Amino acid sequence: MTAAPPPEVPLIGSPYDLRVSLGERVGEAGIKEALETGDTGFVHSFTTGSAVDGPGVRLVAWLAGCQFRCVYCHNPDTWKMTNGMPVTLARATEVMSQYRVQLATMKGGLTISGGEPLMQHRFVLKVFGAAKEMGVHTALDTNGYLGDRLSEADLASIDLVLLDLKAMTPELHRRLTGMDNQPIHEFARRLAAAKRPIWVRFVLVPGWTDDMAEVERIAAFAAGLGNVERVDVLPFHQLGRFKWEKLGLDYLLRDTEPPSQATTRDAIERFRAAGLKAY
Ligand code: SF4
Repeated sequence: MTAAPPPEVPLIGSPYDLRVSLGERVGEAGIKEALETGDTGFVHSFTTGSAVDGPGVRLVAWLAGCQFRCVYCHNPDTWKMTNGMPVTLARATEVMSQYRVQLATMKGGLTISGGEPLMQHRFVLKVFGAAKEMGVHTALDTNGYLGDRLSEADLASIDLVLLDLKAMTPELHRRLTGMDNQPIHEFARRLAAAKRPIWVRFVLVPGWTDDMAEVERIAAFAAGLGNVERVDVLPFHQLGRFKWEKLGLDYLLRDTEPPSQATTRDAIERFRAAGLKAY
C-alpha cells in the first residue's frame, strides 16, 4: 500500500484544522490491512508543544476514527477514519525522533489522542513501542470504550491514560455520546487493578453536564479507583463549531455558551471534595 500523505497537507498542524477525505484513496482493502497490521495509521495531524495533554511538553498525534458522537465534540472531522491521512509507522517514528530530545528536556513525551485512538489500537501500540525504545514517555488519551482491546502487557507499555469520564448516569451518557458507559468503567477498573495511572478529563457543558450531583457521582467513581492522579475540568468552548457547520452536521450546541468561571470552580471543588487533585 502507498501510504505517503498528500504533499499539500502538512503532517504538523492543529486539531482545529478541518481535514477531510485524506485517506479515501487507500480503499477498503487498504484500511483493513492497516487496521490488522498496525503498520499504517490514519492521522488527522501531529501537534508540537502541547502543555495540556499529559505531563511536560507533548508531541500529540491526533488519530482519525471515533465511534462516539459527542454532542460537544470539537473535532467531528476525526469521526471518519478516512478523513485522516495515511501515515506509516516508520514516518510516525521519524516524527517522534525529530522531537525526542526536546521532549526529554521538557519532561514531556508522546500523547496519542483523537478521534478515538483505540479504533486503531495496533498502530497505537506499535508507535508506543517505538516511543519506549527511544525512552519517550507515552500517554493515551481515550474515551475508554475499547479498552478491552488492550492486554495486560499492552497496559504496561502505556505510562499514563488520559481517560474521558463524560457522565455517570447511563441515560445521560447515551444522550451525550450515543454510547453506553459500562465498558469505560470496566477499563478504568482494570487500569486501577494494574496500578496504571489515570488522569481524568471531564468536559463541563452548560445544560448537559453541569448538574453538580452528576459531577459528584463522577468524582466518587474516580476517587474510588485509587489510581487517579489528577482531574482536569475542561470548560466547553465553541472552537469546533465551524467544523460542524462545514461538515453539514446538526450541531445541538450551536447556541450554548461556555460555563461561567463560578460553575467551573464549583465543579473543580466537587472533585477536590472527593479527595482528588483537580484543576
Ligand atoms: S470521544 Fe472525543 S472525538 Fe469522539 S465524538 Fe467524543 S469528543 Fe469527539
